[in-house]
Amino acid sequence: MAEPSLHLKKLEGKVAIITGGASGIGEATARLFSTHGALLVVIADIQDEKGQKVAESIGSNNCSYVHCDVSDENQVQGMVEWTLKTHGRLDIMFANAGIFNKSSQTVPDLNLSDLQHVFSVNVAGTAACVKHAARAMIDQGIKGSIVCTASTAASRGAEVRTDYYMSKHAVLGLMRCASKQLGEHGIRVNSVSPYMVATPLVCNNLNMTVEEAEASYPLPCLKGRALKANNVADAVLFLASDDSSCITGHDLLVDGGSKI
Ligand code: NAD
Repeated sequence: MAEPSLHLKKLEGKVAIITGGASGIGEATARLFSTHGALLVVIADIQDEKGQKVAESIGSNNCSYVHCDVSDENQVQGMVEWTLKTHGRLDIMFANAGIFNKSSQTVPDLNLSDLQHVFSVNVAGTAACVKHAARAMIDQGIKGSIVCTASTAASRGAEVRTDYYMSKHAVLGLMRCASKQLGEHGIRVNSVSPYMVATPLVCNNLNMTVEEAEASYPLPCLKGRALKANNVADAVLFLASDDSSCITGHDLLVDGGSKI
């Protein structure tokens, strides 16, 4: 990735947490944040070996890995406290960790314990990240930016994966409530909603290679193009940086025109 010149670095001096930063969209965003001068990027994930490797490849001066299962609020609180204690501030929370079930989860066959598991990560986990980032920013008087990963699944129905679609609708509700409530503190809350990106989340669960997944889900209007994790990271950088300083409560579709 080309190094932006100094005056184009958009996150100079900022401290950011990225959940789910060991892989896919989170990893691409961690790399992009660091090329944009972030003082520190904290990768919070449950894949310790992968997360450590990503952090090491970015560089120990400006990237750290922390084990954090977002479905456990105590771990989220501890990870935010560690960031504040070690680096003195928190400017950006990218609440991105998410999962979906291998089973089809149609309504007549819904497995409610699987649904609860998806909700514990995608909904409660995202809410815990937004909550503890908001508390830290309010306490420190930091006019920060919180970005959540929703999905094009957040605003439509589907034949399968009912629980995943429901959970992403809930992320939009969380983002909208948080943006209303935190605006008085100068904290902005937005979301990105990607179309299909051939990350491990998709390829492992659909048993497809990257090439097969990209061929099966080309961008709807931009014919011949497949969405990459870097394209989503660009949108997250926009929402995290001062480029979007008057934007809050917004869901930014990164979908090649899927709703047209
Ligand atoms: P990915 O599997 O490459 O990355 C997800 C990361 O989240 C992994 O590193 C995983 O270890 C981590 N994670 C899972 N459970 C966790 C937990 N309990 N605590 C902390 N970390 C946890 O997948 P991705 O595609 O990069 O997914 C990132 C986000 O993007 C998810 O919220 C997903 O729902 C969303 N999304 C993905 C797509 C897509 O097509 N790939 C489309 C729309 C939205």
